[in-house]
Amino acid sequence: MRVAVVKESAPGERRVALVPETVQKLRQGGLEVLVEQGAGDGAWFPDDTYTAAGAAVTTTDDLYATADVILTVTRPDEAGLRRLRAGQAVIGMLAPLTDPHLARSLAERGVTAISLDGLPRTLSRAQGMDALTSQANVAGYKAALVAADAYGRFFPLLITAAGTARPAKLLVLGTGVAGLQAIGTARRLGAQVSGYDVRPASKGEVESLGATFIDLTSGVSAAGEGGYARELTAEERDAQQAELAGHIARHDVIITTAQVPGRRPPLLVTADAVAAMAPGSVIVDMGSSQLGGNVAGSVPGQSVVTQNGVTIIGAENLPASVPTAASNAYSRNISALLLHLVTEGELKIDTTDDIQAGVVVAHGGEVVHPAVAKLLAADTRTEGIEGDA
Ligand code: NAD
Repeated sequence: MRVAVVKESAPGERRVALVPETVQKLRQGGLEVLVEQGAGDGAWFPDDTYTAAGAAVTTTDDLYATADVILTVTRPDEAGLRRLRAGQAVIGMLAPLTDPHLARSLAERGVTAISLDGLPRTLSRAQGMDALTSQANVAGYKAALVAADAYGRFFPLLITAAGTARPAKLLVLGTGVAGLQAIGTARRLGAQVSGYDVRPASKGEVESLGATFIDLTSGVSAAGEGGYARELTAEERDAQQAELAGHIARHDVIITTAQVPGRRPPLLVTADAVAAMAPGSVIVDMGSSQLGGNVAGSVPGQSVVTQNGVTIIGAENLPASVPTAASNAYSRNISALLLHLVTEGELKIDTTDDIQAGVVVAHGGEVVHPAVAKLLAADTRTEGIEGDA
């Protein structure tokens, strides 16, 4: 079976789906590996490192014409999609809950679509395949660095002959994988860190990292399915926003990471909350995307300074800015999934398997993933998104 790694084409995307070290492992598993010319350049893996690992570096035309499975980080671009043919499979982070129409168009063309976003994350045998976690870890780490870079003061307490600097007060809103990594990194940089999440289970995790957990008196508790948060009701959201605003104003740096799968990211920092912050404060909005963000006024991929001197950074794709580490981890995840799907050198699709049921989106001309099929059936919600503003 021929497995091919494409060069990512999304703006600013520097990751690559497979790194040379993993090429060797796949070859030991009996797979042939093709790599599009320059695929690893952005992550500092030149073509010759793939050749040395036993891959064949080739042209885009040859790769799409001869590969059985295409490996990507994010969804292929339009040109790549047009090249896919019936019987081929594509594996990547295809975000089918936010873009169900991609799944439908791949199904219509007989392409098997497999998305790492759907992996059941609490299944211990799937942990090595969990790309959402590995990439969120990278993103949380980088968010703390981005915040420190934009902040005009020190993060740590510094006592020098020129005076004493108090430590920065940093608040992380949303303490899942990325939030906890941001807390750990900010603590190592010396900031005084607090965290908040709607899932009650996260309190212990925040405290175990030496940060303070903020308990809201409004007591919003929203554990959802599969370890995720559920979407808040309008009343819960209003109570949460109002109470958070007071805490936000007392902090110098805010990092937001809140997500609810398949929904618009919840708004946690309102325009009033931003207006109450001191000049020089910094907010890094990791929820920032074309769907909206966690912070009023954040713009994906941009840094804006408000009238009252608050810098709001719309941190859209932080893993791409740590491309080597992010690619190393992603490569292990995608190859573990691939080897799980392969039996006797062939891709064997079997959605009675828990892992496959989560990741296989389209196969045999059908959208087979129930949640994606449901979104497509309810075609009035063509964006695949519900929720608040
Ligand atoms: P995510 O990226 O979906 O969301 C980030 C955080 O935002 C979550 O902690 C969520 O609770 C929080 N959030 C959502 N709405 C919010 C709101 N209105 N206000 C405040 N916070 C809000 O989450 P994630 O980091 O991918 O993790 C999701 C869950 O999966 C977590 O419980 C995590 O511990 C769990 N997980 C488990 C495993 C495992 O068991 N192996 C692996 C990975 C993740």
